[in-house]
This record gives sequence, structure tokens and C-alpha cells, in this order.
Amino acid sequence: MERRKTALVTGASRGIGRAVCVRLAQKGMDIAFTYRSDDNGAAETRRLCEEAGAKVYAYRADVSDSAACRETVRALLAENGGHLDVLVNNAGITKDGLLVRMKDEDLDRVLDINLKGTFYMLREAAAVMLKARSGKIINISSVVGISGNAGQVNYAASKAGVIGMTKSLAKELASRHINVNAVAPGMIATDMTAAMSETAKEAAKGMIPFGQMGLPEQVADAVAFLAGEESSYITGQVLCVDGGMTI
Ligand code: NAD
Repeated sequence: MERRKTALVTGASRGIGRAVCVRLAQKGMDIAFTYRSDDNGAAETRRLCEEAGAKVYAYRADVSDSAACRETVRALLAENGGHLDVLVNNAGITKDGLLVRMKDEDLDRVLDINLKGTFYMLREAAAVMLKARSGKIINISSVVGISGNAGQVNYAASKAGVIGMTKSLAKELASRHINVNAVAPGMIATDMTAAMSETAKEAAKGMIPFGQMGLPEQVADAVAFLAGEESSYITGQVLCVDGGMTI
């Protein structure tokens, strides 16, 4: 019988990360995930993945802490017999504001989590996948990293950086049969966008050809495609899941 694959998803106590975990569990993978602090949210993600038939490994770890990222991957490999087949770098935050009023810490925190956190996890996972000579990596970027957005210079820089990392690493790892791609969501209905004002949401909807926000599950479907064998000849790409926002 073929070994069950293990996928590691960062920031999965809610939102897109949780939807990705559940979708990959439904696809027959075992699920490891990280979360920063929400134990109840993490317990719910675990429950949903177990319900879908997956073995689940949950780690409370901050992706902006390089040592914590290393420890997470080590702990997973020790627990599951040394397998890491899929990495989904999903953890991310926003700290929006106009440039002239943006504080240093708003820039630092967004880059530390969205960009450096992605880098730390990539470094740990790539070492394992290089030895295995196979693997699938999916980085969650954003349409904002492609088109920019007023009030999000810090976030846009972090998400554009994620695209640069994705393309560079795709070139580094291609000879070892490791696919590295990015998914760029548009406006997705999660706690992240719930924080926006109604006026801002309506204005944003006006820029979406489909005229409505997307669902976390629709992003998860794109991730599942890139995590599976159906995408074996695709690497270094950015798949926009945005209802046409970037057309
Ligand atoms: P969310 O705020 O609902 O969830 C973010 C998750 O990341 C949470 O589980 C949180 O615990 C985790 N997280 C945050 N900081 C962390 C840290 N330091 N260490 C570990 N985990 C951490 O957001 P979401 O909408 O589900 O977003 C998920 C990803 O998708 C993010 O990278 C976000 O930038 C990206 N994205 C979201 C949208 C959208 O419209 N919602 C659009 C484009 C991109």
C-alpha cells in the first residue's frame, strides 16, 4: 500500500489555513499544522481534519521565530517517521496604514511573519525534500503583491517578496523534482477581511469581475491542485484565485 503523504500548513487555526488543511485531508494526506496562539481554533482544525480521515500533528509555533520553525519540522519528522511531502506557507498578517504614518514596527512585524517566516519554513522543508528528491511547496502570496494597494506598502512588499522567493526556489529545486508555486488570493471572506469597513469592502467588490468575495475553500482547491500530481509539470508560477481582480 502506498504511504500516506504528510502536508505541513502554517497558520491554520482559522481562515484559509484551516480550509487548506481540511481539503488536503480530504485528498488523503496526513496533516501537520502550526498556529500562533489560538488553542481552540487549532482544536477545531484538528477535529475537522480527523473527521476527514487524517492523522494530525499540531504545533504551537510562531513562524517569525527561526528556531521555532526548525523545531517544528524536527518534531514532525520525529513523530511521523521522517516525511514531509507538502509545505504550505500560509501564516500571514496585515498592519495597514498610509506610508507617511506607518511605524517601523508595522513594517517589521509584517516582514517578519509574511516574508521571513516563509523563508524559515522553506529552508527547513527544502532540506528534507532535497534528500527525498520530491516535494510540493505552495506559498500563499496575494494579488496585492502583484498589483499593489494603497495603505498596504508593507504587506505588498512582503507578498511581492514571497513571489520572488517562489520563483528563485523553483529554479533551485527543479532538478530534484520539487515543485514550488504561489497562490495569490484576491478578496477572501476570512477574519482578515472581516476587519475591513463596509465601505472599503464595497469598494473592493467593485474591482472584482465576479462581483463577490471568494471563500477560503476556493483558495484551498487551488492549493490542493498544486499539492497533487495533477500539477507535476508546473513550477515557479503564481496562481491568482481572485474572481478576475488581476485581469
Ligand atoms: P487569518 O487572519 O484569518 O488567518 C491567519 C492565520 O495565520 C491564523 O491562523 C493566524 O494564527 C496565523 N498566524 C498569524 N501570525 C502567525 C505567526 N506569527 N505564526 C504562526 N501563525 C500565524 O487570515 P487569512 O485570510 O486566512 O489569510 C491566510 C493567508 O492568506 C495570509 O498569508 C494572508 O496574507 C493571505 N491572503 C488572504 C487574503 C484574504 O482576502 N483573506 C487575500 C490574499 C492573501
